[in-house]
Amino acid sequence: MQPVRHADLPSTDVPGTDLPGTGPERVSPEAEYRSVVNPAPRRRQSIGVKVGAVTIGGGHPIVVQSMTNTDTADALGTVRQVQALAAAGSELVRITVNTEEAARQIGRIRELLDAAGCRVPLIGDFHYNGHLLLTRYPDCAEGLAKYRINPGNVGFKHKRDSQFATMIETAIRYDRPVRIGVNWGSLDGELLTRMMDDNARLSEPRDAREVTREALIVSALESARRAEAIGLARDHIVLSCKVSGVQDLIAVYTDLGARCDYALHLGLTEAGMGSKGIVASAAGLAILLQQGIGDTIRISLTPEPGGDRTTEVIVAQEILQTMGFRSFTPLVTACPGCGRTTSTVFQELADKIQSFVRSQMPIWGERYVGVEDMSLAVMGCVVNGPGESKHADIGISLPGTGEVPAAPVFIDGEKAMTLRGEGIAEEFQRIVEEYVERRYARRA
Ligand code: SF4
Repeated sequence: MQPVRHADLPSTDVPGTDLPGTGPERVSPEAEYRSVVNPAPRRRQSIGVKVGAVTIGGGHPIVVQSMTNTDTADALGTVRQVQALAAAGSELVRITVNTEEAARQIGRIRELLDAAGCRVPLIGDFHYNGHLLLTRYPDCAEGLAKYRINPGNVGFKHKRDSQFATMIETAIRYDRPVRIGVNWGSLDGELLTRMMDDNARLSEPRDAREVTREALIVSALESARRAEAIGLARDHIVLSCKVSGVQDLIAVYTDLGARCDYALHLGLTEAGMGSKGIVASAAGLAILLQQGIGDTIRISLTPEPGGDRTTEVIVAQEILQTMGFRSFTPLVTACPGCGRTTSTVFQELADKIQSFVRSQMPIWGERYVGVEDMSLAVMGCVVNGPGESKHADIGISLPGTGEVPAAPVFIDGEKAMTLRGEGIAEEFQRIVEEYVERRYARRA
């Protein structure tokens, strides 16, 4: 089951129903935001690259991808995590291929995923020995939909070119695209030294950080040119230049985006844990995405020990959705709460409803057209509650401290009913379910 459709952006062609304001003319606030307030932010033109059934770049919707942190040699553990990431909405999943045992398991992992109905394309992440693993294990080369090559880790001195060439030739033989993924932490040392030396000879040398940023771009572009010279088609190449600082990321990708038309994989590397990782990723990516730069994104969050790996997928989706690029899951607008609402009822309701909607999406997404555009509001008191609720498809305004214990519910901007007493959460959940059923057309 694919909970997130890639190619078909949600339609705003809503069928008529008997609910107030839900005729064909009504467009959900979420869809309106995307199409009117923020009319399809202009994207940098890039060459589309097919990775299995998913296309990166070429004007296609920005693709969400993620990476496992299981030992790939543990096929069952890896399959379980790939399934979880795909179910959360990851449209591509990258896995480490670092040892012979890992390479040996790729074919089996692919088979197990296919048998379970999970068709998400797998990307192999190679460092140091990719040329050997791809050559020795044909099932590995075949089972992967894309190979990630890090030019800084492909080999050293005279071996580097031949090992890089072997990987590119394998990609050509199996008709697979590659990502040439340069990383700040593993930048080609020889290239950097050469560029630093050249810089030192200038009458006005540039700042060392600037030279390093330039070296990242040169490494990516030179590697791409070499891959093309070997025979890899231009529409089989994705580039990335990952750094861990927000300002560096913006500078590097702005420059890289202007100097080529390859599809770009965007992400802050080693973003970090928790709110720091989320904030840093969102800050850097938002600016670049708004400039039209970025064809696929990955949020490199460090999970808490034993934490859920799928958080990186949800963060990636929410960046794209809150910016109006794509819709994945109905999002709940909730007020922060203040002294006017001292109980936790509305916080619990907002949390319950968001979790409920997210858990329903794999089913709703398969069944209904455009449901991901639905907007909900859960508000804490009468000050902004009714107003904000009216802007949502469905909103509820809970009673603040000292207010009459009643919670008006607004549907399509009109007050539809008032909930009272215990069980408001369950009742509101049922109203949401009924709304989805009536409002959204069933898929053919
Ligand atoms: S809606 Fe009411 S409870 Fe919520 S932040 Fe505003 S004033 Fe406070």
